[in-house]
Amino acid sequence: MAEQKQPAAVLSATDLTPRVRQLVLKPKTAKIAFQPGQWVSLHLPVGPKPPLNRAYSMADPSSPYGELTLVFDLVPDGLGSPYLYQLKSGDEITLSGPYGRFILPETLDRELILIGRYTGLVPIRCLLKQMFYKKIHTPVLLIAVAPSEEEVLFHQEWLTMAVQQPSFRYLPIVAEQSEFQAVEKTLAMLAPLLTGQPKVIPMLCGTKAFVRPLRAYFTEQGYDRKEVKVETYD
Ligand SMILES: Cc1cc2nc3c(=O)[nH]c(=O)nc-3n(C[C@H](O)[C@H](O)[C@H](O)COP(=O)(O)OP(=O)(O)OC[C@H]3O[C@@H](n4cnc5c(N)ncnc54)[C@H](O)[C@@H]3O)c2cc1C
Repeated sequence: MAEQKQPAAVLSATDLTPRVRQLVLKPKTAKIAFQPGQWVSLHLPVGPKPPLNRAYSMADPSSPYGELTLVFDLVPDGLGSPYLYQLKSGDEITLSGPYGRFILPETLDRELILIGRYTGLVPIRCLLKQMFYKKIHTPVLLIAVAPSEEEVLFHQEWLTMAVQQPSFRYLPIVAEQSEFQAVEKTLAMLAPLLTGQPKVIPMLCGTKAFVRPLRAYFTEQGYDRKEVKVETYD
């Protein structure tokens, strides 16, 4: 069940790329117990009718100390992310949660194909960290799409995972022009991997322009809509 609103302290603010920042928050009233893939709602004192509610997925599995790691991109004309971007250690923010169903299925009896674009990789990172920590050796293919070379998220971590975990494969893609191009490039990689192969468990995350055409591709291949787990950001 979702928790009530509570204050949280900003423990740190760190740049991961030129346009992506990580905030580590510590809820002050009660620890938030969450499953990897879930998100919290931030209640921001901005916008035409504050509070402005914005969802952010946890990037790290839960820790004994209860801190929450969030990772987000700066939307220059956005209402909420510019506010988050200027937060610094010692500031306070209001949040609630956890929420969401973008979690691993109970039965992992098929290969997992995880596809995220840009900060759509945040909940996927959390899922993967938990899987490897728990030594779940279900084969995983990660397709990680970035809007530019300098905005490739978590690249070094995925490379390290691929070296350490024989069951993990990592395919990075840079699509600079548009989300349409990101979809085209992803499908070009995906199609030969799916054709004539046993069904996989697909999990897709990002904006609707990215996620929806990919889900449509899976359903065209005979997948039921419910078999394709999605999280859309907008
Ligand atoms: C369940 C859920 C989980 C989310 N988790 C994350 C997360 O972990 N990290 C994260 O960065 N965002 C996440 N988001 C998106 C986040 O809630 C905000 O929508 C995003 O930060 C933009 O907010 P804004 O007020 O700055 O922009 P708005 O004023 O709401 O403008 C939104 C517009 O910005 C563009 N845009 C660029 N980047 C994003 C983005 N990341 N998400 C949505 N729209 C974007 C889109 O074109 C969109 O139409 C999540 C959303 C949902 C629903």
